[in-house]
Formats: sequence, structure tokens, C-alpha cells
Amino acid sequence: MSADQISVDTTTLEIIRAEDEHLAHNYHPLPVVISRGEGVWVTDVEGKRYLDLLSAYSALNFGHGHPALLAVAREQLERLTLTSRAYHNDKLGTFAAALAKLAGKDMVLPMNTGAEAVETGIKVARAWGYRVKGIPTDAARVIVAGGNFHGRTITIVGFSDDPAARDAFGPYSGGFAQVPFGDAAAIEAAIDENTAAVLLEPIQGEAGVIVPPEGYLREVREICDRHNVLLIADEIQSGLGRVGETFACDREQVVPDIYLLGKALGGGILPLSAVVANADVLGVIRSGEHGSTFGGNPLAAAIGERVVEMLSTGEFQERARALGEHLASRLADLVGHGVTAVRVAGLWAGIDIDPRVGTGREVAERLLARGVLVKDTHGQTIRIAPPLVIRATEIDWAVEQLRFVLAA
Ligand SMILES: *Cc1c(COP(=O)(O)O)cnc(C)c1O
Repeated sequence: MSADQISVDTTTLEIIRAEDEHLAHNYHPLPVVISRGEGVWVTDVEGKRYLDLLSAYSALNFGHGHPALLAVAREQLERLTLTSRAYHNDKLGTFAAALAKLAGKDMVLPMNTGAEAVETGIKVARAWGYRVKGIPTDAARVIVAGGNFHGRTITIVGFSDDPAARDAFGPYSGGFAQVPFGDAAAIEAAIDENTAAVLLEPIQGEAGVIVPPEGYLREVREICDRHNVLLIADEIQSGLGRVGETFACDREQVVPDIYLLGKALGGGILPLSAVVANADVLGVIRSGEHGSTFGGNPLAAAIGERVVEMLSTGEFQERARALGEHLASRLADLVGHGVTAVRVAGLWAGIDIDPRVGTGREVAERLLARGVLVKDTHGQTIRIAPPLVIRATEIDWAVEQLRFVLAA
């Protein structure tokens, strides 16, 4: 190893050590310090380039530094960034109209993070339950799925079944019932007269890109209609082009009552989330009952409107569909060669690693050394969700790196 390679490595180690000293240890990042990004590629402090196959858990659907998003962000940054909702701003209304149109709904409630959108969706469903459905005060129930991931707030981790997410943080909010994911009959059995909503990820991302059986969402939709229960689709990770459609619910032509959106909505530039529904549902929230200082700020709204514009041509969805098929066929070749199972939906894949090869984390570390960024989840799985601007040749190259580390 040459002297300058050693000094380069020291830079990374020093940065990580300094970070470790003062940063809470709620994450265990791979040992790489990224300092630049462009499109599908990032560069670390040592000048090494990596193909980003995680894209911040799907928040970077358009890649790093997409020129159209940077342009609108720069322009808005100079003009107006924050007003609070105490006043109107000239960006929020057009963003809301564009997003509502994309979702085929008529109302938007903007927030910031995904977890806030989930919390907001639950509040909306409960208020709808009391004011429209006539559920007795404080009796509203929401049905959720096993293996869910909806964020990290106290209410949300209270209905998670992941011990790491949940165990040290009780007591939890009541009013939730959990049933197995992918089992529509279990949802119907859990519904009673006080059930306000069913909250689901159409495809479970954090759980390892778990795709439910075909027809599941349609059945859940019918069950919700039959029992006057709202269907809330958490499309924070699955939505906005990832699976080859605007929403993962579109795969079964299902329209939920409430969409929860986040991640890619902020263009990979800032946090922007939203609850999108029709006025008969979202209209139950009255002035003063809910809000957020930064929610709906003009900078986020300007970026979000451009994101919606980019999605309204269908170009990104089409890329995800075509390239997703390509990815699926390349990954299928790996099953039996260090991979035990692969699940793919658009440009989104969960890859179960044969324990004889190593853990998901170990495979992620070996891929890092070969210039590919992925993330492990739940021990034996690696998840990939590249920016939708990735090229077929880049997918091929990444799969070759994976083939190499699985064989090594
Ligand atoms: C990431 C995610 C969330 C939480 O979003 P944050 O912005 O991290 O709060 C909620 N639901 C799903 C499905 C997610 O993937």
C-alpha cells in the first residue's frame, strides 16, 4: 500500500472517530464518508466513487443533484424559504393542486418527515371515525400489519413488532391491532364497529421489500368498503415512481382513501411529506387542530411541485418498470449462487443472502469495497433501491460486483 493511500484511509477513519465521539449511536453506518454526489454516483472524502444503490431509502428517486430540482431550489432559496402557515405563501397552493391531481384526490396536508405524515394520517382517520362514522369518543381502532415500518415516533413504534424499534420506549398509545401482512381475511376478522382505518405499506420496504400476494390490496380495498373503514396506504417508500407506477397501489388498480407520501417528494433535497385524500376525509381536520412550523414551507413546496411535474410525464415510472424488469432478470441468475431468494418490484429489490456466504451487513461491506452502496436489513437481507435515473449498464456492473462478492 502506498503512503498516500494510507493517509487517505486515515482521513476516513479520523472523520468516523470524531463523529462517533459526539453523535448518538442510533445508526451503524458503513465505513464510508461521502462528500459529493451526482446522479447515481457519490464520491467519498478520499476521491473514491461508488454507485448509490440505496438512494437514501428511496428519497433520491431522481438521483443526486438533479439539475431541474437544483434549479428550482436555488431560485426559491433566493426568494423566500419560510413563512409558517400563519400566512399564505405563493408556492403552497400550486404544489397542493399539482400533488392532489397526481394522486387523483382533492386535498393535501403538507408535513415534513414521513413519520409526521403517518401520525397525521392516523389523526385524520380518528377524527373521521368520530365525526363521520360515529365511533364513540376515544374508542377508534386502526389495524396495522405485522412487519410494518411506518417511522420512529412513540405512537408508530408502539404498533411495530420489531424489538429494536420498540422495546425500550413504552408505554405506547392504544387503539392499534396488528394482523399478519398479506392476509386479507385476518383484516376482516379484526374489524369491529370502532375500526376507523387499515394502515398498510402496499409493499413493505424496511421488512425487506416484501410483496404481498397478488390480489391482496384489492381484497383489502373491498373489505374496507364493506365495513366503512378507511384504507391508508403508506407510500412513503413505495410511491412516486419506485415500483414502475406512480403508486404501488396502482399495481392492483387500488385507490386508497388516504395516501401518505414522503421521501422522494422532497427531491432528495429536503424533507417533505404529505397526506393526500378527498375532502370528505381530510376535510374533517379543522383549523387549529393540526400543524407544523415548517410544513408547507415555500422552499419545500417549490421543490415538491417540480417533483410532481417530473412524475406527471410518466417517464420515471416507465424507466423504473423497464429497468426493474432488467434488474429482476439479472438478480434471478444469482438465486442458488449465494442468494436464497429475491423479491423485486420496479427498481426495488430485497435480496436474501445465503448465511453460508455471510450476513447482509458483511455483503454490504464487501460491496462497499467494490464501489457499490447497498444497505442490509433484518440480518440476512440486502435492499437495493437505486435512483430511477440509473442506466442498464450500471445495473449490470453492480450485479457483477454482487456476483463477485457472493462467490468470494
Ligand atoms: C421511511 C419511511 C417512513 C418514515 O419516514 P421518515 O421520513 O424517516 O420519518 C414511514 N413509512 C415508510 C414506509 C417508510 O419507508
